[in-house]
Amino acid sequence: MSNHKAGYVNILGKPNVGKSTLMNALIGERLSIITSKAQTTRHRILGIINGDDYQLIFSDLPGIIKPAYKMQESMMEFVRNSLDDADVFVYMVQMGDKPENQPEEYEKIKKMKVPVLLLMNKIDLFETNDVNEQELIWQTDFPQAKVMPFSAKFNLNANILLLDLIEFLPESEPYFDKEEWTDKPERFFVTEVIREKILMNYKQEIPYSCEVVCTSFVEDGDLLRISADIYVERESQKPILIGKGGEMLKKVGTQSRVDLEKFFGKKIFLETHVRVADNWRNNESMLRKFGYRDH
Ligand code: GDP
Ligand code: MG
Repeated sequence: MSNHKAGYVNILGKPNVGKSTLMNALIGERLSIITSKAQTTRHRILGIINGDDYQLIFSDLPGIIKPAYKMQESMMEFVRNSLDDADVFVYMVQMGDKPENQPEEYEKIKKMKVPVLLLMNKIDLFETNDVNEQELIWQTDFPQAKVMPFSAKFNLNANILLLDLIEFLPESEPYFDKEEWTDKPERFFVTEVIREKILMNYKQEIPYSCEVVCTSFVEDGDLLRISADIYVERESQKPILIGKGGEMLKKVGTQSRVDLEKFFGKKIFLETHVRVADNWRNNESMLRKFGYRDH
């Protein structure tokens, strides 16, 4: 294949700036879950856009934080690896952010030879004057980057962004089959949708204490039969998750089912169980079981 372009576009930035919203908008699927809470994204999730003569492989990543748990160390390991294998970086900030308040990864990519698109997201919330002012600040701080005002929510400038990214791609054969649009199996999306509903429905530490495992995924004609275990960190969190008379868990189940039916385009029978995995966020073997380790 001559003149084919392909490469990895890694999306980096602080939590909550809109990285997952961007990837979903570009791919046109709800690949990555989105909430207003920091640390919604825990894994590296690939979203692939295929054209006749190009393949853009996006990586949505956890927001960059200082880890307090082993789980967060793994999350930052995904970020670290993404510094090494990027063909292009999308570094994302939101309006109001400042160059001096960025994590050290920002300084690292400033020193690298890899092309960078610096997206200034959430311009829909601001006046044009503010946008222009901030654009100048970022462009001055990072002269080699292409700074682009953006709104992932309203998909403003998305076509320009894609054209720029394709421009930046190196010549290469495709890395994935042209039919593929993610690296994650169907079961992964089941657990992410349920986790999103937990993030939406519970306060404080409950969402951060939960992990979801899909234990069964069976096609039965037009029906998908799915079972999932929801793990909490402590016995005392179980009744909170389940709620009075099972009400809360039922709500999570119903909301998840509605989204999963859209995602898979099938009727879904969803069964959930709540389990306890003591202190799993600091437990090496549980983290392995939950997919936070490569080996
Ligand atoms: P991530 O942590 O960087 O992946 O951020 P998310 O994609 O999960 O988004 C965090 C929050 O910002 C969510 O509530 C989004 O709806 C919101 N958000 C993302 N992009 C935009 C945008 O362009 N404009 C506005 N107003 N909100 C946005
Ligand atoms: Mg995210």
